[in-house]
Amino acid sequence: MSALWFGPGKPSIFTLLTPFLKEASLLETEGVDWQDIEGNRHVSKVYVLICSSDSVAQPLLRNTKQFNGFYGCDFCYHKGGKTYPYDRPEPPLRNEKDHFEKIKPPVEITRTPRSLSERKFWKASEWRAFLLFYALPILKGILPVRFWNNLFLLVFSIYTLLQDTIKTRSILMAEVALKKFVIEFQRLYGKNHMTFNIHLLTHVTQSVKHWGPLWATSTFPFESNMGTLLKYFHGTQYVPSQIARKFLMWRELPEKAKHTIASGNTKVQSFVEKLYVSKRRTDKCDTLNKSIKGFDHPPLQENIPASHRLAIVKLCGNLSNCFWYYSRFLVDGALYHSQTYDRIKKRFNSAVYLKDGQLDSQINVQSDFIHESVTAMNCVQSGRDPDEDDKHADELP
Ligand SMILES: [Zn+2]
Repeated sequence: MSALWFGPGKPSIFTLLTPFLKEASLLETEGVDWQDIEGNRHVSKVYVLICSSDSVAQPLLRNTKQFNGFYGCDFCYHKGGKTYPYDRPEPPLRNEKDHFEKIKPPVEITRTPRSLSERKFWKASEWRAFLLFYALPILKGILPVRFWNNLFLLVFSIYTLLQDTIKTRSILMAEVALKKFVIEFQRLYGKNHMTFNIHLLTHVTQSVKHWGPLWATSTFPFESNMGTLLKYFHGTQYVPSQIARKFLMWRELPEKAKHTIASGNTKVQSFVEKLYVSKRRTDKCDTLNKSIKGFDHPPLQENIPASHRLAIVKLCGNLSNCFWYYSRFLVDGALYHSQTYDRIKKRFNSAVYLKDGQLDSQINVQSDFIHESVTAMNCVQSGRDPDEDDKHADELP
Protein backbone atom coordinates (compact mmCIF):
# COMPACT_ATOMS: atom_id res chain seq x y z
CA MET A 1 0.00 0.00 0.00
CA SER A 2 1.51 3.34 -0.97
CA ALA A 3 -1.32 5.62 0.10
CA LEU A 4 -4.59 5.67 1.97
CA TRP A 5 -7.00 8.57 1.61
CA PHE A 6 -9.65 9.26 4.20
CA GLY A 7 -12.00 12.19 3.86
CA PRO A 8 -15.23 13.44 2.29
CA GLY A 9 -13.64 14.74 -0.93
CA LYS A 10 -11.13 13.46 -3.44
CA PRO A 11 -7.45 13.94 -2.61
CA SER A 12 -5.23 16.23 -4.61
CA ILE A 13 -3.64 13.89 -7.10
CA PHE A 14 -0.21 15.29 -6.23
CA THR A 15 -0.60 14.09 -2.66
CA LEU A 16 -0.75 10.57 -4.02
CA LEU A 17 1.55 10.84 -7.02
CA THR A 18 4.51 12.79 -5.66
CA PRO A 19 5.78 10.18 -3.17
CA PHE A 20 5.07 7.41 -5.66
CA LEU A 21 7.01 9.14 -8.42
CA LYS A 22 9.96 9.84 -6.15
CA GLU A 23 10.21 6.17 -5.28
CA ALA A 24 9.54 5.03 -8.85
CA SER A 25 12.28 7.19 -10.32
CA LEU A 26 14.72 5.99 -7.67
CA LEU A 27 13.88 2.39 -8.59
CA GLU A 28 14.41 3.30 -12.24
CA THR A 29 17.78 5.01 -11.83
CA GLU A 30 19.37 3.19 -8.90
CA GLY A 31 17.35 -0.01 -8.69
CA VAL A 32 17.41 -2.66 -6.00
CA ASP A 33 20.63 -4.28 -4.86
CA TRP A 34 20.12 -7.96 -4.00
CA GLN A 35 21.95 -11.23 -3.61
CA ASP A 36 20.93 -14.57 -5.12
CA ILE A 37 21.18 -17.90 -3.38
CA GLU A 38 24.78 -18.40 -4.59
CA GLY A 39 25.87 -15.06 -3.21
CA ASN A 40 26.11 -13.22 -6.56
CA ARG A 41 25.09 -9.60 -6.37
CA HIS A 42 22.57 -8.13 -8.78
CA VAL A 43 21.07 -4.72 -9.35
CA SER A 44 17.53 -4.90 -10.69
CA LYS A 45 15.94 -1.76 -12.03
CA VAL A 46 12.21 -1.35 -11.98
CA TYR A 47 10.35 0.46 -14.74
CA VAL A 48 6.75 1.51 -14.65
CA LEU A 49 5.13 0.34 -17.90
CA ILE A 50 1.43 0.46 -17.31
CA CYS A 51 -1.07 1.66 -14.76
CA SER A 52 -4.45 0.00 -14.31
CA SER A 53 -7.16 2.40 -13.23
CA ASP A 54 -10.86 2.93 -13.81
CA SER A 55 -12.17 5.53 -16.25
CA VAL A 56 -12.86 8.05 -13.47
CA ALA A 57 -9.36 7.99 -12.00
CA GLN A 58 -7.58 7.91 -15.35
CA PRO A 59 -8.01 11.59 -16.32
CA LEU A 60 -6.84 12.60 -12.83
CA LEU A 61 -3.70 10.52 -13.18
CA ARG A 62 -2.97 11.81 -16.68
CA ASN A 63 -4.17 15.35 -16.20
CA THR A 64 -6.52 14.97 -19.15
CA LYS A 65 -10.19 15.51 -19.83
CA GLN A 66 -12.75 13.19 -18.21
CA PHE A 67 -14.50 10.66 -20.48
CA ASN A 68 -17.83 12.49 -20.40
CA GLY A 69 -16.24 15.62 -21.83
CA PHE A 70 -15.88 16.14 -25.56
CA TYR A 71 -13.05 14.04 -27.03
CA GLY A 72 -12.73 12.28 -23.70
CA CYS A 73 -11.53 8.98 -25.14
CA ASP A 74 -7.82 8.40 -24.70
CA PHE A 75 -7.58 6.05 -27.63
CA CYS A 76 -9.26 7.93 -30.45
CA TYR A 77 -10.79 11.19 -31.60
CA HIS A 78 -14.40 10.22 -30.99
CA LYS A 79 -16.25 13.41 -30.18
CA GLY A 80 -17.90 11.65 -27.25
CA GLY A 81 -19.48 13.72 -24.53
CA LYS A 82 -22.46 12.14 -22.84
CA THR A 83 -22.71 9.25 -25.30
CA TYR A 84 -20.35 7.50 -27.68
CA PRO A 85 -22.43 6.41 -30.73
CA TYR A 86 -20.67 4.12 -33.19
CA ASP A 87 -19.14 6.40 -35.82
CA ARG A 88 -18.57 5.52 -39.43
CA PRO A 89 -15.92 6.08 -40.60
CA GLU A 90 -14.35 5.24 -37.26
CA PRO A 91 -12.67 8.18 -35.57
CA PRO A 92 -8.90 8.30 -36.19
CA LEU A 93 -6.79 6.84 -33.42
CA ARG A 94 -4.69 9.09 -31.29
CA ASN A 95 -1.04 8.41 -31.98
CA GLU A 96 2.20 8.89 -30.12
CA LYS A 97 2.90 12.20 -31.85
CA ASP A 98 -0.50 13.64 -30.97
CA HIS A 99 -0.11 12.50 -27.41
CA PHE A 100 3.30 13.97 -27.24
CA GLU A 101 2.21 17.39 -28.40
CA LYS A 102 -0.66 17.53 -26.01
CA ILE A 103 1.05 16.31 -22.89
CA LYS A 104 0.75 18.78 -20.07
CA PRO A 105 3.32 17.54 -17.64
CA PRO A 106 2.66 18.24 -13.97
CA VAL A 107 5.16 20.16 -11.95
CA GLU A 108 6.67 16.95 -10.51
CA ILE A 109 5.83 14.04 -12.44
CA THR A 110 -15.49 -16.64 -4.41
CA ARG A 111 -20.01 -16.57 -3.90
CA THR A 112 -22.94 -18.25 -5.14
CA PRO A 113 -25.26 -16.48 -7.64
CA ARG A 114 -27.57 -13.84 -6.22
CA SER A 115 -31.02 -12.97 -7.52
CA LEU A 116 -31.17 -10.75 -10.60
CA SER A 117 -33.43 -8.42 -8.66
CA GLU A 118 -30.49 -7.74 -6.35
CA ARG A 119 -28.17 -6.90 -9.23
CA LYS A 120 -27.88 -3.35 -7.97
CA PHE A 121 -25.81 -4.78 -5.12
CA TRP A 122 -23.76 -7.22 -7.16
CA LYS A 123 -20.01 -7.07 -6.78
CA ALA A 124 -17.76 -6.95 -9.82
CA SER A 125 -16.94 -10.63 -9.42
CA GLU A 126 -20.64 -11.46 -9.54
CA TRP A 127 -21.00 -9.55 -12.79
CA ARG A 128 -17.99 -11.36 -14.14
CA ALA A 129 -19.48 -14.75 -13.29
CA PHE A 130 -22.79 -13.63 -14.80
CA LEU A 131 -21.16 -12.51 -18.03
CA LEU A 132 -18.84 -15.45 -18.49
CA PHE A 133 -20.88 -18.33 -17.15
CA TYR A 134 -24.54 -17.60 -16.44
CA ALA A 135 -25.85 -15.03 -18.89
CA LEU A 136 -25.98 -17.08 -22.09
CA PRO A 137 -27.62 -20.23 -20.71
CA ILE A 138 -30.11 -18.48 -18.42
CA LEU A 139 -31.17 -15.83 -20.93
CA LYS A 140 -31.65 -18.29 -23.78
CA GLY A 141 -35.33 -18.27 -24.65
CA ILE A 142 -35.93 -15.22 -22.46
CA LEU A 143 -33.98 -12.65 -24.45
CA PRO A 144 -35.24 -12.32 -28.06
CA VAL A 145 -32.89 -14.22 -30.40
CA ARG A 146 -31.24 -11.18 -31.95
CA PHE A 147 -30.44 -9.72 -28.51
CA TRP A 148 -29.11 -13.08 -27.32
CA ASN A 149 -26.93 -13.42 -30.43
CA ASN A 150 -25.62 -9.94 -29.76
CA LEU A 151 -24.77 -10.83 -26.15
CA PHE A 152 -23.01 -13.97 -27.39
CA LEU A 153 -20.50 -11.80 -29.24
CA LEU A 154 -19.59 -10.01 -26.01
CA VAL A 155 -19.31 -13.18 -23.93
CA PHE A 156 -17.25 -14.90 -26.63
CA SER A 157 -14.82 -12.00 -26.90
CA ILE A 158 -14.30 -11.41 -23.20
CA TYR A 159 -13.89 -15.14 -22.60
CA THR A 160 -11.31 -15.28 -25.38
CA LEU A 161 -9.39 -12.28 -24.08
CA LEU A 162 -9.27 -13.73 -20.56
CA GLN A 163 -7.50 -16.96 -21.43
CA ASP A 164 -4.08 -17.75 -19.97
CA THR A 165 -2.50 -17.54 -23.40
CA ILE A 166 -4.18 -16.10 -26.47
CA LYS A 167 -3.26 -16.78 -30.07
CA THR A 168 -3.02 -13.78 -32.38
CA ARG A 169 -5.77 -15.35 -34.47
CA SER A 170 -8.05 -15.44 -31.42
CA ILE A 171 -7.39 -11.78 -30.66
CA LEU A 172 -8.38 -10.90 -34.21
CA MET A 173 -11.54 -12.98 -33.88
CA ALA A 174 -12.39 -11.22 -30.63
CA GLU A 175 -11.75 -7.87 -32.26
CA VAL A 176 -14.18 -8.62 -35.09
CA ALA A 177 -16.76 -9.96 -32.64
CA LEU A 178 -16.52 -6.92 -30.37
CA LYS A 179 -16.87 -4.51 -33.25
CA LYS A 180 -19.92 -6.39 -34.46
CA PHE A 181 -21.28 -6.34 -30.90
CA VAL A 182 -20.91 -2.56 -30.63
CA ILE A 183 -22.47 -1.86 -34.04
CA GLU A 184 -25.42 -4.17 -33.38
CA PHE A 185 -25.76 -2.89 -29.82
CA GLN A 186 -26.47 0.60 -31.10
CA ARG A 187 -29.09 -0.74 -33.51
CA LEU A 188 -30.74 -2.88 -30.83
CA TYR A 189 -30.63 -0.61 -27.81
CA GLY A 190 -30.40 2.86 -29.38
CA LYS A 191 -27.81 5.61 -29.45
CA ASN A 192 -28.73 6.76 -25.95
CA HIS A 193 -27.27 3.58 -24.51
CA MET A 194 -23.96 3.89 -26.31
CA THR A 195 -22.10 4.65 -23.11
CA PHE A 196 -18.39 5.12 -22.67
CA ASN A 197 -18.05 1.54 -21.42
CA ILE A 198 -19.57 0.21 -24.65
CA HIS A 199 -17.25 2.44 -26.65
CA LEU A 200 -14.22 1.19 -24.69
CA LEU A 201 -14.91 -2.32 -26.03
CA THR A 202 -13.69 -1.13 -29.44
CA HIS A 203 -10.23 -0.57 -27.91
CA VAL A 204 -10.01 -3.60 -25.64
CA THR A 205 -8.21 -5.89 -28.09
CA GLN A 206 -5.56 -3.27 -28.69
CA SER A 207 -4.80 -3.33 -24.99
CA VAL A 208 -4.53 -7.14 -25.10
CA LYS A 209 -2.12 -6.94 -28.04
CA HIS A 210 0.11 -4.62 -26.03
CA TRP A 211 -0.23 -5.88 -22.50
CA GLY A 212 -1.49 -9.45 -22.60
CA PRO A 213 -4.76 -10.99 -21.44
CA LEU A 214 -7.34 -8.81 -19.73
CA TRP A 215 -6.70 -10.38 -16.33
CA ALA A 216 -3.11 -9.18 -16.42
CA THR A 217 -4.16 -5.54 -16.29
CA SER A 218 -7.34 -5.97 -14.26
CA THR A 219 -8.12 -3.68 -11.34
CA PHE A 220 -9.77 -6.57 -9.46
CA PRO A 221 -6.76 -7.28 -7.21
CA PHE A 222 -6.72 -3.67 -6.11
CA GLU A 223 -10.46 -3.63 -5.52
CA SER A 224 -10.21 -6.76 -3.43
CA ASN A 225 -7.46 -5.15 -1.36
CA MET A 226 -9.92 -2.34 -0.67
CA GLY A 227 -12.20 -4.95 0.88
CA THR A 228 -9.36 -6.10 3.11
CA LEU A 229 -8.59 -2.55 4.20
CA LEU A 230 -12.24 -2.04 5.17
CA LYS A 231 -11.84 -4.85 7.69
CA TYR A 232 -8.91 -3.06 9.30
CA PHE A 233 -10.96 -0.72 11.47
CA HIS A 234 -13.84 -0.68 13.92
CA GLY A 235 -16.12 2.20 14.78
CA THR A 236 -15.71 5.69 13.41
CA GLN A 237 -12.78 7.02 15.44
CA TYR A 238 -9.23 7.35 14.13
CA VAL A 239 -10.06 5.29 11.06
CA PRO A 240 -6.94 6.13 9.02
CA SER A 241 -4.54 5.37 11.86
CA GLN A 242 -6.39 2.15 12.69
CA ILE A 243 -6.00 1.03 9.09
CA ALA A 244 -2.38 2.09 8.85
CA ARG A 245 -1.48 0.38 12.14
CA LYS A 246 -3.15 -2.91 11.20
CA PHE A 247 -1.69 -2.82 7.73
CA LEU A 248 1.82 -2.40 9.10
CA MET A 249 1.24 -5.08 11.71
CA TRP A 250 0.20 -7.64 9.08
CA ARG A 251 3.13 -6.71 6.91
CA GLU A 252 5.67 -7.09 9.69
CA LEU A 253 4.27 -10.19 11.35
CA PRO A 254 5.99 -12.81 9.13
CA GLU A 255 9.37 -11.14 9.62
CA LYS A 256 8.81 -10.83 13.38
CA ALA A 257 7.60 -14.44 13.52
CA LYS A 258 10.77 -15.59 11.77
CA HIS A 259 12.87 -14.09 14.54
CA THR A 260 10.74 -15.02 17.53
CA ILE A 261 9.30 -18.51 16.88
CA ALA A 262 11.68 -21.27 17.91
CA SER A 263 12.84 -23.15 14.83
CA GLY A 264 11.42 -26.47 16.02
CA ASN A 265 8.00 -25.08 16.81
CA THR A 266 6.18 -26.24 13.68
CA LYS A 267 2.74 -25.81 15.26
CA VAL A 268 3.17 -22.07 15.73
CA GLN A 269 4.93 -21.74 12.40
CA SER A 270 2.09 -23.36 10.49
CA PHE A 271 -0.42 -21.28 12.47
CA VAL A 272 1.26 -18.10 11.25
CA GLU A 273 1.47 -19.46 7.71
CA LYS A 274 -2.25 -20.22 7.70
CA LEU A 275 -2.99 -16.61 8.60
CA TYR A 276 -1.54 -15.56 5.28
CA VAL A 277 -2.52 -18.32 2.90
CA SER A 278 -6.17 -19.22 2.84
CA LYS A 279 -6.00 -22.58 1.15
CA ARG A 280 -8.66 -25.22 0.96
CA ARG A 281 -8.09 -27.45 3.93
CA THR A 282 -6.17 -30.42 2.72
CA ASP A 283 -4.88 -31.74 6.03
CA LYS A 284 -7.36 -34.60 6.08
CA CYS A 285 -6.82 -35.80 2.55
CA ASP A 286 -4.72 -38.52 0.97
CA THR A 287 -2.07 -37.27 -1.41
CA LEU A 288 -2.11 -39.75 -4.28
CA ASN A 289 0.47 -37.95 -6.34
CA LYS A 290 1.72 -34.44 -6.99
CA SER A 291 -1.50 -33.24 -8.58
CA ILE A 292 -4.21 -35.47 -7.10
CA LYS A 293 -5.56 -35.52 -3.57
CA GLY A 294 -8.52 -37.56 -2.34
CA PHE A 295 -10.77 -36.56 0.54
CA ASP A 296 -12.21 -38.77 3.28
CA HIS A 297 -10.78 -42.17 3.83
CA PRO A 298 -12.23 -44.25 0.99
CA PRO A 299 -14.09 -47.54 1.36
CA LEU A 300 -11.82 -50.33 0.12
CA GLN A 301 -13.90 -51.38 -2.88
CA GLU A 302 -17.35 -50.55 -4.03
CA ASN A 303 -19.63 -52.54 -6.24
CA ILE A 304 -18.33 -51.36 -9.54
CA PRO A 305 -20.35 -51.90 -12.69
CA ALA A 306 -18.66 -53.78 -15.56
CA SER A 307 -18.62 -50.72 -17.83
CA HIS A 308 -16.67 -48.77 -15.24
CA ARG A 309 -14.22 -51.63 -14.78
CA LEU A 310 -13.66 -51.66 -18.55
CA ALA A 311 -12.98 -47.95 -18.49
CA ILE A 312 -10.37 -48.43 -15.78
CA VAL A 313 -8.70 -51.22 -17.72
CA LYS A 314 -8.54 -48.97 -20.75
CA LEU A 315 -7.02 -46.19 -18.70
CA CYS A 316 -4.49 -48.16 -16.69
CA GLY A 317 -3.73 -51.13 -18.89
CA ASN A 318 -4.78 -53.66 -16.28
CA LEU A 319 -7.39 -54.09 -13.64
CA SER A 320 -5.38 -54.48 -10.52
CA ASN A 321 -7.12 -54.37 -7.21
CA CYS A 322 -5.38 -51.28 -6.11
CA PHE A 323 -7.83 -48.63 -6.99
CA TRP A 324 -9.87 -46.61 -4.60
CA TYR A 325 -13.14 -44.88 -4.73
CA TYR A 326 -13.27 -41.26 -3.65
CA SER A 327 -16.40 -39.17 -3.77
CA ARG A 328 -14.43 -35.95 -3.33
CA PHE A 329 -11.02 -35.16 -4.75
CA LEU A 330 -8.71 -32.41 -5.95
CA VAL A 331 -6.92 -32.43 -9.30
CA ASP A 332 -4.40 -29.61 -9.70
CA GLY A 333 -6.27 -27.59 -7.10
CA ALA A 334 -9.70 -28.03 -8.72
CA LEU A 335 -12.26 -29.77 -6.55
CA TYR A 336 -14.47 -32.53 -8.00
CA HIS A 337 -17.45 -34.25 -6.41
CA SER A 338 -18.98 -37.51 -7.53
CA GLN A 339 -22.72 -37.48 -8.09
CA THR A 340 -23.13 -39.59 -5.00
CA TYR A 341 -21.63 -36.80 -2.89
CA ASP A 342 -24.66 -34.97 -1.54
CA ARG A 343 -23.34 -32.93 1.34
CA ILE A 344 -23.20 -29.70 -0.64
CA LYS A 345 -26.46 -28.41 -2.09
CA LYS A 346 -25.54 -25.11 -3.70
CA ARG A 347 -22.66 -26.37 -5.81
CA PHE A 348 -22.20 -28.79 -8.66
CA ASN A 349 -18.67 -30.06 -9.05
CA SER A 350 -19.37 -33.17 -11.09
CA ALA A 351 -19.29 -32.09 -14.71
CA VAL A 352 -16.13 -32.63 -16.71
CA TYR A 353 -15.00 -31.63 -20.16
CA LEU A 354 -14.07 -34.84 -21.96
CA LYS A 355 -11.08 -35.35 -24.17
CA ASP A 356 -13.36 -36.04 -27.12
CA GLY A 357 -14.76 -32.52 -26.78
CA GLN A 358 -18.01 -33.46 -25.06
CA LEU A 359 -19.29 -31.84 -21.93
CA ASP A 360 -21.01 -34.67 -20.25
CA SER A 361 -22.67 -35.32 -16.95
CA GLN A 362 -22.82 -39.06 -17.70
CA ILE A 363 -19.21 -39.14 -16.69
CA ASN A 364 -20.02 -38.24 -13.12
CA VAL A 365 -20.27 -41.74 -11.84
CA GLN A 366 -17.09 -42.79 -13.54
CA SER A 367 -15.03 -39.77 -12.70
CA ASP A 368 -14.62 -40.74 -9.10
CA PHE A 369 -11.97 -43.34 -9.81
CA ILE A 370 -8.42 -42.53 -9.19
CA HIS A 371 -5.85 -45.20 -9.74
CA GLU A 372 -2.45 -45.23 -8.16
CA SER A 373 -0.82 -45.06 -11.58
CA VAL A 374 -2.88 -42.23 -12.98
CA THR A 375 -0.72 -39.16 -13.20
CA ALA A 376 -3.28 -36.69 -14.44
CA MET A 377 -7.00 -36.36 -14.65
CA ASN A 378 -7.76 -38.91 -17.32
CA CYS A 379 -11.47 -39.55 -17.51
CA VAL A 380 -12.52 -42.24 -19.90
CA GLN A 381 -16.05 -42.61 -21.02
CA SER A 382 -17.02 -46.22 -21.54
CA GLY A 383 -18.40 -46.97 -24.99
CA ARG A 384 -16.77 -44.01 -26.68
CA ASP A 385 -13.36 -43.44 -28.15
CA PRO A 386 -11.53 -40.74 -26.24
CA ASP A 387 -8.27 -40.89 -28.16
CA GLU A 388 -8.46 -37.74 -30.21
CA ASP A 389 -6.50 -35.41 -28.01
CA ASP A 390 -6.84 -31.67 -28.33
CA LYS A 391 -9.00 -31.88 -31.42
CA HIS A 392 -11.08 -29.07 -30.03
CA ALA A 393 -8.30 -27.15 -28.36
CA ASP A 394 -8.97 -24.11 -30.48
CA GLU A 395 -12.69 -24.06 -30.01
CA LEU A 396 -14.75 -22.60 -27.24
CA PRO A 397 -15.86 -25.00 -24.55
ZN1 LIG B 1 -12.15 5.88 -28.44
